[in-house]
Amino acid sequence: MGGVLDKCLCYTNDREYLKHELVRCVKTLFAKGYVSSGGGNHSFRYNDTVFITPSGYPRSHLKPSDLVLIDMDGNIIEGDLRPSIEVPFHTEIYKKRSDINAVSHAHSPYSHALFQTFNLIEEEDGIFRTDDMRFPLKLGKVKVLEYRQLGSRALARLVGNASKDAKIMVLLDHGVIGIGRCIHEALFYVELLEEYARCILISKVFGEY
Ligand code: 13P
Ligand code: ZN
Repeated sequence: MGGVLDKCLCYTNDREYLKHELVRCVKTLFAKGYVSSGGGNHSFRYNDTVFITPSGYPRSHLKPSDLVLIDMDGNIIEGDLRPSIEVPFHTEIYKKRSDINAVSHAHSPYSHALFQTFNLIEEEDGIFRTDDMRFPLKLGKVKVLEYRQLGSRALARLVGNASKDAKIMVLLDHGVIGIGRCIHEALFYVELLEEYARCILISKVFGEY
């Protein structure tokens, strides 16, 4: 396996461990302000099924037992809570990418602001420019997607197709999606993009870009 996190401990099929790690990652994103009490959703593939976060549930209080087990058509197999409204794009990614086992969707503010505010043109994979600045994101291919209604099939189709050759997708007027072989890798992309975006925007304020 090439890429980041080759030695990640979560390359395991231990269901309780994977659930625990997903919840820990959600709480990390919540603590950093990348998701709010009602924003973002996260999942991991478990054999032919998916564990996904519940819809509209306070992220700070999430427990492993709150995760909802669904099949690839979005039917609930296990769980008392309603699954995320974004089940369609999570399952679409897993259907399109057999190598991807985790999806993290956040509303990270700097990433959103960077792509929302500037008309960024990708010159080559990961190298973006506007009229007056040019910067590498060093994330590989970043796909920027037009707005589609939250939870819609249209959004799922757009995301599914874009995921074929991307690790991170920016949803204009909405948020970002990181995907990976495990939840830590998916988070890695969300966090790295936010770090770049924060540095670029702060530098921009001081006139460095
Ligand atoms: P859920 O709470 O249903 O996951 O929705 C949050 C969200 O971010 C929708 O895009
Ligand atoms: Zn969202």
